[in-house]
Amino acid sequence: IFRENSELAKKLSEEIGKLAPKVAQKNGYDRIKIMNFCGSHEWTTTHYGLRALMPHEVELIPGPGCPVCVTPSSDIENVINLAMEGYRIYTFGDVFKLPTVNHYKKNEIGSLAEAKSLGADVRIVYSFADAIEDAKKDGKESIFFGVGFETTIPSYAVLFSRNKVPKNLMFYSSTKLTAPAAEYAVKLHKSSNHTPVSGVIGPGHVSTIIGAISWNFFPKEYHIPVVVSGFEPIDILTGVLIILKDLYNGNIKYTNLEYRRVAKLEGNIYAQKEISETFDVIDAIWRGIGVIPKSGMDLKEKYKEYNARLLISNNKPWDYDLPPGCKCNEVTLGLAYPTDCPLFMKACTPARPWGPCMVSMEGACAVWARFGSSQ
Ligand code: SF4
Repeated sequence: IFRENSELAKKLSEEIGKLAPKVAQKNGYDRIKIMNFCGSHEWTTTHYGLRALMPHEVELIPGPGCPVCVTPSSDIENVINLAMEGYRIYTFGDVFKLPTVNHYKKNEIGSLAEAKSLGADVRIVYSFADAIEDAKKDGKESIFFGVGFETTIPSYAVLFSRNKVPKNLMFYSSTKLTAPAAEYAVKLHKSSNHTPVSGVIGPGHVSTIIGAISWNFFPKEYHIPVVVSGFEPIDILTGVLIILKDLYNGNIKYTNLEYRRVAKLEGNIYAQKEISETFDVIDAIWRGIGVIPKSGMDLKEKYKEYNARLLISNNKPWDYDLPPGCKCNEVTLGLAYPTDCPLFMKACTPARPWGPCMVSMEGACAVWARFGSSQ
């Protein structure tokens, strides 16, 4: 698609190149920092070398867009303990490999993969629906370890609301909401010594569910333009150009022109209803970061018989939960690039991930490891 649109890509990058110095001068910026909030945006940006097309004023930084990367070690440890107690665990392939904070310690189980190697019944599935089908076969007491953002949560909710979940299958929710984390990251940049974020590439997939309007708080409260963007390189280049134009014209707004082919202003009302009838919003732990208020979801009281979190009696308060030397918290919040981590492609590689951002293809470290930084 990029090759087919190479003329358009060239035109967009030339316009970006012309406008960026004017925006920087007009607004008194050293750098125009534009943050994405979706692992797929980071994938496109890196895979297609979009950073190499940016003028030196524009910096494209990854944000907290990978649900696997931010799954707290305590949740993985809890699920490992349940696996070792005899529950069968169902989860996704990248969660299976996700290392806990104990990963580097002797005599500790560092991942669900290690638990399986020690005899636990841990099964990889593509979806909650697949886990349901498998759990029904023999009636064994089982738990689905559910991670994901608003794009994945409806697929869980709809199976509860349609009474499809068998009694022998519980659900451990480590699901997360993107907007509170996006706001957290932007606030952090504003308050720290770092250059504040000047524009946001809004997550297209998530916006199909929660609606483009959900990002209106960025222009309204933080004076930052947002463009809800698709996942082709042209989408992202267009998004960057719209942000620069907004900054130059002083017309700070959210834009849903670019990805209107999928994301509606109000989102998917049906999915929103399914989510709100099945899950409650809770304060959630983000790995390496801590608790972000109202940024996660857990099953409602009416589904308590399914709630595997209620099996955990010793819920510990959050403690720093990254392996030593891992900078995933900084990478996730856009405060560091993967290459700033001394372990990148040394002790930590896609084949042997040391930290959580190297596991999933939505993690910035895994993306940079495969495709280079394109800076
Ligand atoms: Fe963590 Fe590995 Fe990324 Fe370093 S390279 S921040 S250890 S995931």
